[in-house]
Amino acid sequence: MQVLLVEDDAVLADGLSRVLAGHGIATDVVGNGLDADLRLQRNDVAVAVLDIGLPGIDGFEVLRRLRARGSTVPVLLLTARDAVEDRVRGLENGADDYLVKPFATPELVARIRALARRNAPRPAVLAMGALSLDTDAKRAHAAGRPLDLSVREWAVLEYLLQHPQRVVSKQQIIDAILPWGDDLTQNAVEVYVSRLRLKLQDAGVSIRTIRGFGYLIEPLPAP
Ligand code: CA
Repeated sequence: MQVLLVEDDAVLADGLSRVLAGHGIATDVVGNGLDADLRLQRNDVAVAVLDIGLPGIDGFEVLRRLRARGSTVPVLLLTARDAVEDRVRGLENGADDYLVKPFATPELVARIRALARRNAPRPAVLAMGALSLDTDAKRAHAAGRPLDLSVREWAVLEYLLQHPQRVVSKQQIIDAILPWGDDLTQNAVEVYVSRLRLKLQDAGVSIRTIRGFGYLIEPLPAP
């Protein structure tokens, strides 16, 4: 993940980029608005952290030009304390979030990660073993054969495959598929999982029960 930090306070910029590097986040630093505008035209930035008060053109103008080009790169604005109008103006002009200076660096890291997650492209095809789920076409195949899944079986399987080889709880599954509004009990989740296990016998994957925690989907070793 490449973060662009636009900050004219060189000491602050240096300190922040070190903190981010310590969290495995690579950061490019530029110190004025025109350089930021040029750098953002390369379209290789995962998240832009943008100070408002900058020499040359200010953060608002950098943001305006970015959105005028149709870019959807997430922007986190750094604003001064008490500058409520700045925050409103930033959000109205297409900023995704803001932090008020001075801020705690763990909060900066958390917000950058949240913005990067929100913008990350979801793969259209989820695959494991001989199983593939095309989430655009809503078709599932096991070893080339089409799988007949109910809407809810599909939702449970899609959620498990979005979290490969990680334990997910029944409640996490319920929360993920509840947008449909109906009540869903943990017993119902168990029923969907047992039906999925029957349908996935040739799929080269196993949905393991982790007692007291939930489920884990993993590929079976090749026979
Ligand atoms: Ca500044």
